[in-house]
Amino acid sequence: MGYTHYWYRPRKIDQAKMSAIAGDFARLVIALDDIGVRLADGHGEGVPTITPELVCFNGVANCGHAKNENVSIPWPDKRAAGVNDTEQPISGRWFAGALLSTRTCNGDCSYETFYFPAEMPADTYWQPNSERKDLYFSCTKTAFRPYDLAVTAFLIIAKRYLGDDIKVSSDGEDENWQEAKQVCEAFLDYGLKFQLAEELVEVTP
Ligand SMILES: [Zn+2]
Repeated sequence: MGYTHYWYRPRKIDQAKMSAIAGDFARLVIALDDIGVRLADGHGEGVPTITPELVCFNGVANCGHAKNENVSIPWPDKRAAGVNDTEQPISGRWFAGALLSTRTCNGDCSYETFYFPAEMPADTYWQPNSERKDLYFSCTKTAFRPYDLAVTAFLIIAKRYLGDDIKVSSDGEDENWQEAKQVCEAFLDYGLKFQLAEELVEVTP
């Protein structure tokens, strides 16, 4: 349980497309950092991996933000936006936890690792899509930590290059993706037309 983004993708992604995806994402890293989205490796330490073989990152575990135990099983509210935009990020409750008005952390900006290899490891079972058997399930639970903005921007980039070969869905609404679209549009000249494929949500909790 927790705020998550989902996608189905091919087991192996064409080298040229993966290079383009990683290259565009790399162009966003400094811009994201400037608005408070600091990226680290999959464990929340060191630096992110952004290569044509693998894009893998997380938020920074030892981020220096104040501890806040009330940021528990967080979920964005309808108008949630920004990154640590307010001192009081909790705007209410949903049945399981806190509603947030902005991306924030509980004192640890890392959550689930975002993992997007050019080729998915063969020694792992990957769940195929029921309609597109050549596409396989992946997801990242971001809990609306600041790096949520990087995950959603990455998926917009991947959609740009993979088209119908990636199906992206989300616990969030289009409104919650708006800033990622704007970041992509501002720095990559595309993104505003991105739309979530709501009809393809096949979520396995
Ligand atoms: Zn933090």
